[in-house]
Amino acid sequence: MKFDKPGILFDNRFFDHAISGHSVENSDRLRHLYMHLEKPEWACRYKRILPREAEMSDILAVHSSFYIDQIREYALKDDPYAYDNDTYLMDQTFYTARLAAGGCLELADQIMKSGMDYGFAIIRPPGHHAEPGRGMGFCVLNHIAITAQYLRKHYGLQRILIVDFDVHHCNGTQAAFYDSKNVLVFSIHQDRIFPFTGSANEVGIDEGKGYTINLPVPSQFGDTEYRYLLGRVVNTLAEQYLPQIILVSAGYDAHKDDSMSNTLLTTEWFGLVTEMLKTLAADYCDNRLLLVLEGGYNPESLESSVLRTVDVLCSPAGVRVGIAPSSRAEAVLDGHPLHHFWTL
Ligand SMILES: [Zn+2]
Repeated sequence: MKFDKPGILFDNRFFDHAISGHSVENSDRLRHLYMHLEKPEWACRYKRILPREAEMSDILAVHSSFYIDQIREYALKDDPYAYDNDTYLMDQTFYTARLAAGGCLELADQIMKSGMDYGFAIIRPPGHHAEPGRGMGFCVLNHIAITAQYLRKHYGLQRILIVDFDVHHCNGTQAAFYDSKNVLVFSIHQDRIFPFTGSANEVGIDEGKGYTINLPVPSQFGDTEYRYLLGRVVNTLAEQYLPQIILVSAGYDAHKDDSMSNTLLTTEWFGLVTEMLKTLAADYCDNRLLLVLEGGYNPESLESSVLRTVDVLCSPAGVRVGIAPSSRAEAVLDGHPLHHFWTL
């Protein structure tokens, strides 16, 4: 079978929103990674995609106009931290975030219209903490939620699976789809850290009940536990939900070298999970797989792990990733509310 190159999206304009020396969420996260991706031996393996600005109508499908006005108003203030202690807002913030969201939409179009198999938006600022009515945790616009709504509206998709493996819970993405069965939001995250949401009991409301699945996990979990939990739960969800596309909030702050958490994933794990997701996309949704960068605040581990992801996306299908047994991970699933909705 012919293997198509994946679409990899990155752009130096994502550096325009940055305050040096103040925040771990700054352009130094991605600068060296971009240079690496531009080397000829990498550049020949993928199709470089450039972003466009998301339309206001696409942004407003997720965020309130009151909040968007607030972003613009606070960007004019002298103190960039006037809105929030983490989430700085400045002149270029809205444009940069709009470009990041539009980058995801561009990849979504390429996947839906041009039959491109995989896309990876290597963007910043991140998005998954941004709720419909407020930004937080470095996140201004929720790119993956905007993308899911766009796919609903412009392509009529009715079953979109979002997989979020950032070490923090995706409170914003969850809030956007809490009452919807059209977008199934799965998150695995370290328990009891920012933003202190995402308990197992948060399962959705109304017709969205059972379509939010949270796996809060203890600190010190590593490759074995994550492989077991992702493998078992996401495989089950895909098999029973039959997604038309898989969107991934790909955060790299669960890496053992990232000081944001005490989770212990290795660089290799990020390759393994990409292989697993490729297999699911092949089995259930005609290879439609779109990854969106979220967190990852150690530039070295972020770079090596993102490159591992890109390498797997740029390679023909490998072997199926097996699931190693893990009693610590099995304990997370004991009595978990997901059993009411899905058959593991
Ligand atoms: Zn994070």
